[in-house]
Amino acid sequence: MERTAIIFLGPPGAGKGTQAARLSQELGFKKLSTGDILRDHVARMTPLGQAVGPIMERGDLVPDDLILALIREELSGKVVFDGFPRTQAQAEALDRLLAEAGIRLLGVVLVEVPEEELVRRMLKRAGLEGRPDDNEETIRRRLEVYRTQTAPLVAYYERKGLLRRVDGLGTPEEVYARIRGALGV
Ligand code: ADP
Repeated sequence: MERTAIIFLGPPGAGKGTQAARLSQELGFKKLSTGDILRDHVARMTPLGQAVGPIMERGDLVPDDLILALIREELSGKVVFDGFPRTQAQAEALDRLLAEAGIRLLGVVLVEVPEEELVRRMLKRAGLEGRPDDNEETIRRRLEVYRTQTAPLVAYYERKGLLRRVDGLGTPEEVYARIRGALGV
């Protein structure tokens, strides 16, 4: 089968991770979540984890070169990206990587959720999962970082005709059905 990639884009708390996990499982794709990979490094206290831990706790972005090294290592011919790319430089680097590897970008799913609901979900998750970046101050910072550094990618992928907007409100089941419909898979 053709080598293909799908990107999940959207603010923190939109539910990208949950949806990306299910889609990748059902399509037999590899899920590449930069947040999960980084959290694993932090938990294992690797040199990378020690470098990125404080950055993540503040809600800032990890430098592009570190992220791109991870992606290069893990790239596969059928892949769902969750939480990557997050900057213009990452998006442009990904275009080059995909072109070199002969992988076609099938679509970019933008999961849209109003800001009050994002904050509510992340505060609830804080109680359940205890992620150190799910406190009110860091949540505000992550939303600001999304608006300034990641949201411009919406226009970038729109211009390429790849953007698929999906309403992220409703049950996970409803959102999942919308995503499959929007991607036509
Ligand atoms: P969320 O989408 O809820 O913010 P993630 O698990 O995707 O959660 O990301 C958590 C943190 O990991 C980010 O705030 C950032 O510090 C770091 N991170 C994850 N992906 C990237 C990326 N592509 N570029 C830079 N930093 C990243």
